[in-house]
Amino acid sequence: MLSKIGLYKILLTLIFLATFSTTLMAQDYNKWFTENVMRIDLTHAGDAKTEYYFTEQFYKEEVWAGSKTKLIDKLSYGDNFFEVYDSTSQTLIYSRGYNNLFYEWQAEPEAKHNNRSFEEVIRFPFPLETVQIKIYRRLLTGELEPLHQFYLNPKSYRVIKGTKYNFETERLFGELPVNKAVDIVIMADGYTKEELSVFKSDATKLSEFLLNTEPFSQLKERFNIWLIMSDSKESGTDIPRQDIWKNTVFDSHFNTFNSERYLTSQSIKKIHDVAALVPYDQVYVLVNTDKYGGGGIFNYYNLTSAHHALSPWVFIHEFGHGFAGLADEYPYGAINFEDVYSSKSEPWNPNISTLAKPDKKWKNMMDKDTPIPTPVTEEYKNKVGFYEGGGYLKKGIYRPYQECEMRTLKSGFCPVCQDAIIKMIKFNIDQ
Ligand SMILES: [Zn+2]
Repeated sequence: MLSKIGLYKILLTLIFLATFSTTLMAQDYNKWFTENVMRIDLTHAGDAKTEYYFTEQFYKEEVWAGSKTKLIDKLSYGDNFFEVYDSTSQTLIYSRGYNNLFYEWQAEPEAKHNNRSFEEVIRFPFPLETVQIKIYRRLLTGELEPLHQFYLNPKSYRVIKGTKYNFETERLFGELPVNKAVDIVIMADGYTKEELSVFKSDATKLSEFLLNTEPFSQLKERFNIWLIMSDSKESGTDIPRQDIWKNTVFDSHFNTFNSERYLTSQSIKKIHDVAALVPYDQVYVLVNTDKYGGGGIFNYYNLTSAHHALSPWVFIHEFGHGFAGLADEYPYGAINFEDVYSSKSEPWNPNISTLAKPDKKWKNMMDKDTPIPTPVTEEYKNKVGFYEGGGYLKKGIYRPYQECEMRTLKSGFCPVCQDAIIKMIKFNIDQ
């Protein structure tokens, strides 16, 4: 057991280290980076058991819109994670977690028999000198396993500059400098040139809805919303099961991974090619259809159909996934607990738990007399607890509230999801 003085010393050291590292990072942005963005295109390929990364292209893009002080990802969310090291000093200068389509496909029956590849993009501030990039996957235990690494000289002639698109852009909301705000770029898919005024009105309505929803409303001035008038040759989107195919700029489609409503695009590189016309942290593709659906993948992208009666709620639900890494709090299809979770560790998502370490989750937000697990009864309605059912399973996974926007649309975000969203907003901006 530590003496009081020993403990005090350790505390002082910890406080010193915490202050020191924050100050160090704030000053260090200019030591390591320019004002630009380094974008790297990758291919992520494999089958149910194996996976490979292939490095493709490097791009120098315009203004870095993310935080300049929170360069190291201490939240450590995501099934994937990448780190950027200054190659000479081996200093870690940037890291981020994210998710992707490949891992979702890997859980499909098709992956047992076939290989497939998916596009993937990582972005970070443009380095001044050669960097080493390391990409990891998260194991069920929560640990990170190295998958791929390479060196990159930012002065190399192979780093591509300039953009091939010239769609009109507009700053719809927000006045703060980009590093002090979360910058969302909303881009049109399946809107023809003649329909771009409809796109602007759809994007305006949905953004206003998001910014007036708790907890985004508390920090709404901390958001910039940018529009890109990316018109398509044809109106609508692909619905493969109905043999409906449309020529649209981002090739969005329903029926992803055998789901009627799962709306995605596999044109990740093109999405970023176009998004690069404005400064952005988060990409939102708005799809011109009245069919119900959407998709949101953490730090990857968000899509929503624009004209269904529930579109505003789908819009904020998907953004919960794409921006804050929130898990769905509902049970869904037939997935096995063992394939996705480990009873010995907690999932990285802030709003689901295996009960392995409730203290590390939201236990501190509970009343002292609320039991774990918490019964779904009237007595605990509107109380934070650990309620069984969530993360696509009926059993073994626990959610923090009886109802939430991540479980049932129109419920509002639960206190734990609200807390996670606020944390993520603060993590994305400079004060
Ligand atoms: Zn929730």
